[in-house]
Amino acid sequence: MQEDRLLELDARHAWHPYSATRHPDPVYPVRRAQGCRLELTDGRQLIDGMASWWCVIHGYNHPRLNAAAQAQLQDMAHVMFGGLTHAPAMGLVERLVRLTPAPLQRVFLSDSGSVAVEIALKMAMQYWQARGTPDKVRFLALRRGYHGDTFHAMSVCDPVTGMHRLFSGALPQQLFAPAPTPGFDQGCTEAQIADMQQLLDAHHQQLAAVILEPIVQGAGGMRFYSPEYLTRVRALCDHYQVLLIADEIATGFGRTGRLFACEHAGISPDIMTLGKALTGGYLTSAATLTTETVADTIASAEPGVFMHGPTFMGNPLACAIANASIDLLLDSDWAANIQRIETGLRAGLAPCRELSGVAEVRVLGAIGVVEMEQPVAMREIQRHFVAQGVWIRPFGRLVYLMPPFVITDAELEHLCAAMLSVLHAWGSNPSPAVA
Ligand SMILES: *Cc1c(COP(=O)(O)O)cnc(C)c1O
Repeated sequence: MQEDRLLELDARHAWHPYSATRHPDPVYPVRRAQGCRLELTDGRQLIDGMASWWCVIHGYNHPRLNAAAQAQLQDMAHVMFGGLTHAPAMGLVERLVRLTPAPLQRVFLSDSGSVAVEIALKMAMQYWQARGTPDKVRFLALRRGYHGDTFHAMSVCDPVTGMHRLFSGALPQQLFAPAPTPGFDQGCTEAQIADMQQLLDAHHQQLAAVILEPIVQGAGGMRFYSPEYLTRVRALCDHYQVLLIADEIATGFGRTGRLFACEHAGISPDIMTLGKALTGGYLTSAATLTTETVADTIASAEPGVFMHGPTFMGNPLACAIANASIDLLLDSDWAANIQRIETGLRAGLAPCRELSGVAEVRVLGAIGVVEMEQPVAMREIQRHFVAQGVWIRPFGRLVYLMPPFVITDAELEHLCAAMLSVLHAWGSNPSPAVA
């Protein structure tokens, strides 16, 4: 398809994420992608700093993932998971149980992160119902959290930056603790956990679970917090008889320097959600893991089953690719590689601290964040990044890098240099008219 035809169809009929159909932001037509490069239809190559919303950890067009997809297509692309089972799905549940913290033994496969969160919330509610405490239906979440765009997932997203106001009549009313204040390298004092403790103390009889993103709050603010905070939340949940749901959809599979972010704190949740990098960014797929205790309790009471079953759950093609992606990760020296990226991001982004308009620069694992004092105009800043040969898509005040793990040192330097140069120009003239 010709580029002008493609753009015309897009303008007339397509609807992009979080976008307006009237005066939409420009979109860039991609022809193909290889390794860490996106190739636009006009031949320009962009180094990808986003890993396509953090999921393409092995880069694009990877021979081993392609081979896994092609091999699976010879057998079956899809069969229903109701009443049937198959090797790709069992390979995946085996891997996930082996890799995640010990008591997580049951895997419910689904098709996207938001759905995995819905399933987690539903599991927690059905668990307490089965325990004879049907009043425990509410959730306690963190401010600045993000858990997805479906209705119950929305209800546990940050109440200010999330979509609460827009859907206020329709969303269940949840409870929110302040975003954690101690940084990743800090401990956590009694005072810093006091709000969480008070909320649990006051409301535990109505609470099914605490839901949080462990260590890294992603799309709600790109904030890193103290592992000790997480350890304390785990202890409080036990004390007050409230389940803990760890949403590892953004952090799972090595992004923070540990395979799962819960490992920084040495804790295990009662329920864990996985998505994003699960298939190396090839296909949409997600998983909700829980303990045998939760699963068995749900089975012990009316209606005796867990009430969920997406059409595409356990999709063999997605599972086969997920298995190959996990093997690829584990076959590599991934921890040293994340350390390499962290070192590169620290060195490359440090000079941004000196720029006017920059509030903070922070790095953890393969995540590098420059937080600005003011929101950036995406349409304009995106154009400047593309002109520098990089794909970086900020949101609000956050300009960040979450590159594929296969990024080379030279590519990483290019990404950081582009950040520095664009933000330098931006800081000295933050109007949308900046040249
Ligand atoms: C992206 C994300 C989700 C939602 O996943 P989708 O696949 O976009 O539905 C949920 N939780 C966290 C922490 C995420 O980063």
